[in-house]
Amino acid sequence: MRKNIVAGNWKMNNDLAQTEALIADLKAQTISSNAEVMVAPTAVNLFSANAALEGNAIEVIAQNMHFAENGAYTGEVSAAMLKSVGVHTVILGHSERREYFNETDELLAKKVDAALANGMRTIFCFGEELADRKAGKEEAVVESQIKNALFHLEAAAFKNIVLAYEPVWAIGTGETASPEQAQDMHAFIRKTLANTYGAEVADSVSILYGGSVKPANAQEIFSKPDVDGGLIGGASLKAADFFAIVNAF
Ligand code: PEP
Repeated sequence: MRKNIVAGNWKMNNDLAQTEALIADLKAQTISSNAEVMVAPTAVNLFSANAALEGNAIEVIAQNMHFAENGAYTGEVSAAMLKSVGVHTVILGHSERREYFNETDELLAKKVDAALANGMRTIFCFGEELADRKAGKEEAVVESQIKNALFHLEAAAFKNIVLAYEPVWAIGTGETASPEQAQDMHAFIRKTLANTYGAEVADSVSILYGGSVKPANAQEIFSKPDVDGGLIGGASLKAADFFAIVNAF
């Protein structure tokens, strides 16, 4: 059966002292759900976050990586470097990477390949913009994002892929997709996977929802049959809020 996952994306927040303080707060919380819990500090704090969480069930994951193994890519971080500091899962394709750093489906396909070649798990993000939804194109946009970046993969690769549907209009806006909108899209995503890879693969892939998930709405969203967890931005910066979401399962 597929896993329930709640991952916190800290984005470009928290210096070293703040990272250590938030981790101390997280360690004081109790996981009372069956969800896998992950947090994604900024790259410079991955090593210390991992050290601080040693022996804890919370996994430290990365927000991004480059597709190359090494070389003249100033400012970038490779899969091998992430692994060398104990990071084995990476978020790819976040809408902020797509919007502010011009990451395309083609580039993301290369990043996904690099992550998988290094034995890393990928949380692959995608989602439509408000204009797409208003035009009734949300399924077409999501289908093309997934197909362009992932459908060159063999079925076996999906054991290391987690999908994160994040409608851009719901990220950091306080506006959440309704549980029904999330369920409809997640069911569509699973059907899209099943059409190409078969029901077994489609049923095994965790599909997270992201976009203004809070303690107050998590339980209803997570109760939907095709929603296997959440990618949490703002609410992951406070340990109590994040754990209220984790424990909503
Ligand atoms: C995100 O950035 O992935 C996200 C879901 O942010 P927020 O929860 O703040 O909307």
